[in-house]
Amino acid sequence: ATISLECLIRSLNPAQKRSVTHPPDRPLQILAGPGSGKTKVLISRIAHLILHHHLPPHSICAVTFTNKAANEMRVRLEKIIGKERTSKVKMGTFHALCAAFLRKYGPSGGQDGEAEETDEVKSNFTVCDSSESQKILRALLKERQDQFADTGATLTDRILSSTISRAKSRGQSSKDLLAALPRASNNGVYANGVSSATVERDRLVAEIYEEYDAELRRNNCLDFDDLLLYGVKLFKGNKKAREWCRHVLVDEFQDTNTVQYRLMLAIASTHKCVTIVGDPDQSIYGWRSAEVENLARMTTDFPKVEQIFLEQNYRSTGPILDTSVAIISQDPSRIPKTLHTTHTSGFTPTLLKLANEKDEAEAVAWEIKRVVAWAGGVVGWGDFAVLLRTNALSRTFESTFQKEGIPCRVLKGHKFFERLEVKDLLAYLQLVDNPAYDPAFRRAVNTPSRGIGEKTIAQIVTRAQARKSSPYTIVQLICASKIPDVKPPVKKKLVGFVKVVEQLGAHAKEGMAAADLTRKLTELLDYHHHLRSTQPDWEARWENVQELITFASEFESKSAADEEEAGEDRDDEWEEADGTTPLRAFLQASMLSSDGDNDDSEGSATEKVTLSTCHAAKGLEWPVVFVPAVEEKMFPLDRSEDIEEERAQALLYLTHTDKRKIAAETMDRKLSVFVSKVLEQTQSIFSTSLPPFELGSSSHKREEICRIIGRKETDPREARRMMDEHNFQRAARRQQVPLARSSGARPWVNQQAPPACTGFGSSRVLHQGEVAN
Ligand code: ATP
Ligand code: MG
Repeated sequence: ATISLECLIRSLNPAQKRSVTHPPDRPLQILAGPGSGKTKVLISRIAHLILHHHLPPHSICAVTFTNKAANEMRVRLEKIIGKERTSKVKMGTFHALCAAFLRKYGPSGGQDGEAEETDEVKSNFTVCDSSESQKILRALLKERQDQFADTGATLTDRILSSTISRAKSRGQSSKDLLAALPRASNNGVYANGVSSATVERDRLVAEIYEEYDAELRRNNCLDFDDLLLYGVKLFKGNKKAREWCRHVLVDEFQDTNTVQYRLMLAIASTHKCVTIVGDPDQSIYGWRSAEVENLARMTTDFPKVEQIFLEQNYRSTGPILDTSVAIISQDPSRIPKTLHTTHTSGFTPTLLKLANEKDEAEAVAWEIKRVVAWAGGVVGWGDFAVLLRTNALSRTFESTFQKEGIPCRVLKGHKFFERLEVKDLLAYLQLVDNPAYDPAFRRAVNTPSRGIGEKTIAQIVTRAQARKSSPYTIVQLICASKIPDVKPPVKKKLVGFVKVVEQLGAHAKEGMAAADLTRKLTELLDYHHHLRSTQPDWEARWENVQELITFASEFESKSAADEEEAGEDRDDEWEEADGTTPLRAFLQASMLSSDGDNDDSEGSATEKVTLSTCHAAKGLEWPVVFVPAVEEKMFPLDRSEDIEEERAQALLYLTHTDKRKIAAETMDRKLSVFVSKVLEQTQSIFSTSLPPFELGSSSHKREEICRIIGRKETDPREARRMMDEHNFQRAARRQQVPLARSSGARPWVNQQAPPACTGFGSSRVLHQGEVAN
């Protein structure tokens, strides 16, 4: 169903309305807290630009930070301006946008004046995702292991990759890093007490950075950061690319890093029309070098920029908002913020203290069941989220939920395209598309096993380096008998490998669709048999192969439709041949799928409790949210950008523990100062006991929840039906056992008899004075 623009604008509050109808040629910053309709305003503004001001859809560039957000935006925009126009809006992450333009104009960017051919990167470049680039770095680090072992410096591949990525996202090259190293004075001492180990480590990082870049160029590939860097160059140097864009809109602007900001500037350089929406609070912790200064910088780059603040929250209840505002305001560097909500009343957030991480997971599991039992029919498993500071916290929850029979899904991204079977097949396709791409060669050459050993591969790689060529080219030469000194049995195996790639390449040349190519590949490799004979869970893996083929086919039907449309719409230059092939486009989409987030592709989200890191949860909302480990050094964790309480609509629980096992070691834990300070100021901001839900009672509270989350109240008897459905009663009976045994051991379990079926009474939470210790 489509919504008319008038109807949409009528539904907005005055500040939102001003944002949407702000003159199209005047730059605008929309600043607001979570759940205030920022994304809604951005989408409405796009619709307004197109329907009211008649900007061509293809001249609008809308940037989001994750693929998921882009898809959601696309769906919401379709409802207003229709599918066809929506498909023409350039919508996606900065990475996807750059990748598309680099394909269209070539990595050298078809610069103004004489087209200069760069031999650095060719137009069939491969996009290398973060797991692949980490692998390359790991290998480079290993080569240097001995060298830095002497210096006493420690360096892990994770530190290495994040340092390099941060440098790239600030626009610093390896040369910049080398030049910035401090110089020792005559007696070999560094100023400001910098240790020589630190300097040596930084030097090593810069040197590996240089080697890493060289390695990427050798493989004719770009990593995620390179996409942006090359993108900036392209937009700066190419007039056509620069003039294309009439208006740039950026969601979650607070997360833009320096390079992304430069990119926005370059894209907007001709028409100078930008609209950004952001929440300065949500990035204060500097995830992926987000820089809040970009907000300030805009006032110099766009002197006419105006600001509009949205202060009405539509997502959460008053008590939940009060809690997040109270916590946020503990940080002096944050801008004070006013937030009002339409739902002024609601349940006071709960703060629970548990003995350890096991009790914590159990308490959360039981509370979920209690709420389901009480409000069953209104809320189901899919309405709960447990938001974790780190992935590592997830395991305890996963196993506890499994034990308790609670269906759950884990949102952590990168999953599908990191699976062995998916990577195996993609490797062959990548090799067809870009024979210089070494990671694909290494993976494919002996998959399925052809008896080609590590030693053979190492020799091939060495030869390739000596000849300044790619390993795959060497193998081709060996097979064509142009490199004689290879033993016949080895050669025979290599011929088997090359045959597959060449056959596949021939099909690709004939224009075979990516889905058919993938299917063909599984036949050429007898991949079904290979999985069956090597993988115990081969059936699930084979399903993933089918899923990959499905993904490939969806992709093609889309680009075919695009081509049709392009024929009708002459002024849409974008849709003309843009330097890509269906295969290349498919590969690129797979590599970019881990950009920002990735939906868990397993099953539907609706009937499962969500376990997620705060990063992956950005922009999402749930009726009931748990935030475990509200502890020092964990909350707020310095590499996270968000306060999760803001994701809760109706019920919010924070938990923390006395002791927690971290990396196999039991640590004493302390409540986060952010929360303890809030408690010192306003004790009543948290409830010290669980919300008083009981089966069959407090129907006015059920009504309240229904109102907040916008659902219809159902018969309370529905609760019983749901419990049966999920074997709840059996699970509850099982709980009686630990309950009976544990009255002393679990401080959070009430001494009194638990209410029927809940197995979980009110809890002893924080007593005054416990906070400070
Ligand atoms: P986040 O910080 O999580 O990105 P946001 O500021 O982008 O949030 P939206 O996702 O756009 O907020 O909106 C939050 C919720 O509020 C959505 O369910 C949206 O439909 C609703 N909402 C926004 N504005 C209005 C309005 N004027 N009337 C009714 N509901 C609204
Ligand atoms: Mg949003």
